[in-house]
Amino acid sequence: MSEPDESAKGPAPVDFIRQIVDGDLAAQKHGGRLATRFPPEPNGYLHIGHAKSICLNFGVARERGGVCHLRFDDTNPTKEDIEYVEAIEKDVRWLGFTWDAMFYASDYFEKLYACAVTLIEKGKAYVDSLSAEEIRAYRGTLTEPGTNSPYRDRSIDENLDLFARMRAGEFPDGAHVLRAKIDMASPNMNLRDPALYRIRRATHHRTGDAWCIYPMYDYAHPLSDAFERITHSLCTLEFEAHRPLYDWCLEHLVAGERPQQIEFARLNLNYTVMSKRKLLQLVQQRYVSGWDDPRMPTISGLRRRGYTPESIRDFCARIGVAKKENVIDVAQLEHSIREDLNKRAPRVMAVLHPLKVVLTNYPEGEVEYVDVINNPEDASAGTRKVPFSRVLYIEQDDFREVPPKKFFRLSPGKEVRLRCAYFITCTEVVKNDAGEIVELRCTYDPATRGGDAPDGRRVKATMHWVSAAHALPVEVRLYDRLFSVEDPEGGGPGANFLDVLNPQSLDVLKGALAEPSLAEAKVLDRFQFERLGYFCVDADSTPGALVFNRTVSLRDTWAKIEQRA
Ligand code: ATP
Ligand code: MG
Repeated sequence: MSEPDESAKGPAPVDFIRQIVDGDLAAQKHGGRLATRFPPEPNGYLHIGHAKSICLNFGVARERGGVCHLRFDDTNPTKEDIEYVEAIEKDVRWLGFTWDAMFYASDYFEKLYACAVTLIEKGKAYVDSLSAEEIRAYRGTLTEPGTNSPYRDRSIDENLDLFARMRAGEFPDGAHVLRAKIDMASPNMNLRDPALYRIRRATHHRTGDAWCIYPMYDYAHPLSDAFERITHSLCTLEFEAHRPLYDWCLEHLVAGERPQQIEFARLNLNYTVMSKRKLLQLVQQRYVSGWDDPRMPTISGLRRRGYTPESIRDFCARIGVAKKENVIDVAQLEHSIREDLNKRAPRVMAVLHPLKVVLTNYPEGEVEYVDVINNPEDASAGTRKVPFSRVLYIEQDDFREVPPKKFFRLSPGKEVRLRCAYFITCTEVVKNDAGEIVELRCTYDPATRGGDAPDGRRVKATMHWVSAAHALPVEVRLYDRLFSVEDPEGGGPGANFLDVLNPQSLDVLKGALAEPSLAEAKVLDRFQFERLGYFCVDADSTPGALVFNRTVSLRDTWAKIEQRA
């Protein structure tokens, strides 16, 4: 895995979109106005790719005194749902953005219909009665022009009559479509008389059964932009070839000032799928626990995983906005959250795989409290008291009976430091009948309290620990990538992204132990478990039974050692 690009730090450079916007503002192109929109289709939850678009649209407007609308692009009733509308609003807010206005494309159904009638009246649209299959065949190919439909030259009156009857519900689904009359020989397939309306009897989550015809995205989108007086309609590159159609709709229906579509490269992340259709499949077929499963690249999944809005915005600023497609390393996303949490997450001690340690020379029944720094990156975070006693737990991986070369942690006869407490030396290894190590007997040096030896002798390792009598049992969920290959969609024909799911993407540890200060932790509180990574309290937690998600590991040797076979 390559390292995140550190050179990307600092204030965001002015990308090509901001350059265009600045030029237009300076030239008073839209009377000096700036209006953008974020137009999700409510057919799934937002993902990190949407975050890029949100940061761009809301960010540009905020920085340059413009407005940004949230618009639900709800023109396809069969896939859309109010659950998604609500989740999208929540996620945009959580990311730190507020919209200047909220709209639904379905608010415009009546206006969109009127515009279609206008097109028919201008001789720019017609009702086609070919079947879907025939329409496909007549469309031609990239190398061959299409063929005009035999219905292309229907009279305006006949078209008006048929279109009104389509709306009135006189025809079954698929019997007719309304098409733009552009050019069946255009080298751009999108201009070969694209469909504008189709008949579809489906209950819409907002308009119910009021309509049985629904507008197509390529028609509804430019007009929605125009109705809202959007100045810059920012979208991803795959719409570049649709831009002539976008402009065609505006040219024939909008007088005066028109929005400008500008395309940018979508965010692609390695080891990740981002298509909503595929994410929905993961949810519906229960490969994950839901849209907010902490392994999902959704905003709700990242939130539950422990990502902060700041870290996601920082990530989006670092990757920037460009016109060229590329794949970003997920390590960059991890870098952003590490950097954020390093500054503000309180440090605590927790042991994931506990190994019992008895300090044979420590008085039985005694408890003392050692002072531990809460956050070395934040002096104002202060210190806390952590209980220490005769019986402790350390990490199993911090002990080796037969230490390999360069293993500096605990082994028989070796001395190490327990963080902020004492030096201890292992004197005996206790095993069960199966020969497994169940306990270590150690001595501690009372003169090393706080972690330093008065005689100046040094140890090579400092380990985290918890006091057995005070430890809080917690569940810890460790996550790995959801997919085991860099490009889960790149398997070629016949390959299925589900075949490259990582079977080890979730590891649930039931026996972890945490220091008692965590008893007060609330859902979504974030911590650094010393040496283990950043963790966040999961919503599955109940009083007395906390569940922690590991957001991300620390980028040190321990993280590698801990990923043992
Ligand atoms: P998907 O391919 O995941 O289904 P979509 O483009 O169909 O996504 P929409 O709800 O239509 O999803 O997207 C809303 C906005 O977010 C659009 O303007 C779209 O261009 C943008 N967007 C979607 N995916 C990405 C991405 N990966 N990177 C940047 N912007 C994106
Ligand atoms: Mg879309």
